[in-house]
Order: sequence, then C-alpha cells, then structure tokens
Amino acid sequence: MTAMAQGPGWVYLVHLERPIGDPDNPRGQARHYAGSAREVAARLAEHATGQGARLLAAALEQGVRWHLVREWPGGRAEERALKEAHNAPRFCPECAARAGRRPQRELPPVKPRQAAAQRHAAAEAQAQRHEVLRGHAAIGREDATRFLALLDGASADEIQAAAAELQTPYYEGERTPEGDARQGAFAGRVTAAIDRLRESKQAQTAAATQPQEGTPEVSTDTAQERQPAEPETRPATEWMKGAKTAHDLITRQVEAGYSATASPNGGTRPWPPTTTPPPPPPSGNGTPGPRKPPAT
Ligand SMILES: [Zn+2]
Repeated sequence: MTAMAQGPGWVYLVHLERPIGDPDNPRGQARHYAGSAREVAARLAEHATGQGARLLAAALEQGVRWHLVREWPGGRAEERALKEAHNAPRFCPECAARAGRRPQRELPPVKPRQAAAQRHAAAEAQAQRHEVLRGHAAIGREDATRFLALLDGASADEIQAAAAELQTPYYEGERTPEGDARQGAFAGRVTAAIDRLRESKQAQTAAATQPQEGTPEVSTDTAQERQPAEPETRPATEWMKGAKTAHDLITRQVEAGYSATASPNGGTRPWPPTTTPPPPPPSGNGTPGPRKPPAT
C-alpha cells in the first residue's frame, strides 16, 4: 500500500465525501484512507492520478472526491496502528464534528509487537555488526602472522619497535571500531609472540652452560594458544589510515630494510597500545551510529 516512510515522516488521513466499497475489504465500505509518506503533498498528487492507494483509485473511478483531513508525525508503524484501530471517524475532524464531538488528537499507540519487531531488527543489526568486527580481528591476526614471518630471526626488541612503528600512524589517525578490532588483534598476537621470544631468551640465558644453536622461533600458533581470552576489540592501535593496508605497510617496512634493524626511534614509542580502550562490542540497547569501515 504505502511504499515508504521508514523513519521520520507523516501519517495522513484522507476523508472521502461519500463511502465506497472497500477494495481491501470486499464486504466493507470505506470512507477514509490512512497512509504515510515523507512528502504528503507529493503522495496526494500521486493518489490524485490513481497511484499508490487502491481505495483512492477506486474513488477516482467512481467520481467520489476526497481530501486530506489530518496529519501526524510518524511512519509505517504509526500508520499501521491507525489502520488497525478500525475507527478512522474518531480521528477525522469532519466525521467527529458531524457526530457532535471532538476528534481524537493523538494516534493510537504503536502496538508492542511492532515495537518488539523494531527492537529485534536493531538487535539483528548489532549482531551483524559484531560479526563484522570479528572479521576485522581475524584480518588483524593474519596481519600479525605475516608480520612475524617477515621479521623471523629478529629480536623481541626489534619486533616490538617494528610493531610500534607500524601501529603509531593508526593511533594518530582517525580510529574506527573496525580498525580497533583489527589493530587490537594484531597487537595481541604480536605481543604474545614477543613474550614467548623473551621467555625463550631467558631460558637460554639460564641454560648458558649449555649454549644452544640457532635462534628461537616465533611460533604464532603457540602465541595464539597462550591467549585464548584475547578480547576482539581490546585497546588498539592506529596504523590503518587512508588507503594503506596492513600488508602494504608491512611490505614497505620490509622493503625499506627494516626487517633486522631496530626502529630509528630505538623502540621508544609506547607499545603495545595503551590508549583509551574503544567502546565495548554491542551488547545492550545502544545503537552506535554507522561508522565508515577502514579503507582497504
Ligand atoms: Zn471523515
């Protein structure tokens, strides 16, 4: 019937100058039509050409005139509430005047099941959004795996400096929930790998009487196992900016001969990230506004 009015708009009531057979209820007569639109005048102009409402098209065919009698702020839910009241004359000022009473001013309340449906839709959107954040965290973990592979053989300090170097631009740029999820997952995996490397180094030092060959391996699989409770959106880092991707940044670092040397800053940048944590994942009734996803 009415084809729009999601969100703010208007509910309108049209009064027919005489009742006609109701095409939507073959056993009934109708004298009013309720609809909703953002632009009521434009919608009425459509109705005047027989579009958008079967009842008004039938009135047009039968030569029955009609006119707008009421408008209320609202959308489809309010329109439905008005229709389901099945008592349009009560809201129509002309019919009320004819009956010697005042019209009801307020629309009938939107029924709980409609409100529930709206809440359900909002919850679904949030759940979907959470899935999206999980996807970004997974990408962050893949970034970390690549990063650690590229820095294979580097010391814990070198890896930490490189990670700080990589993530600082994101800190200094515009953060997003998606970016936080990705950077947080990256930092979580790299931190775990660094911890493991340091532990391994300490063990080596302790066993100095038995010098070992080779360098300790950074095992990202083990690192992952060691932090099963890593939150998906823990305090994160800001190095995704503009069109840069993690892969681009890592590749650039490595091409610049970064892989085995410490940062020019000597690793003095704060890392892992300690900035204000991002908002928690959606859980309550809060409806965070749309945020732009990080460019890839
Ligand atoms: Zn009326």
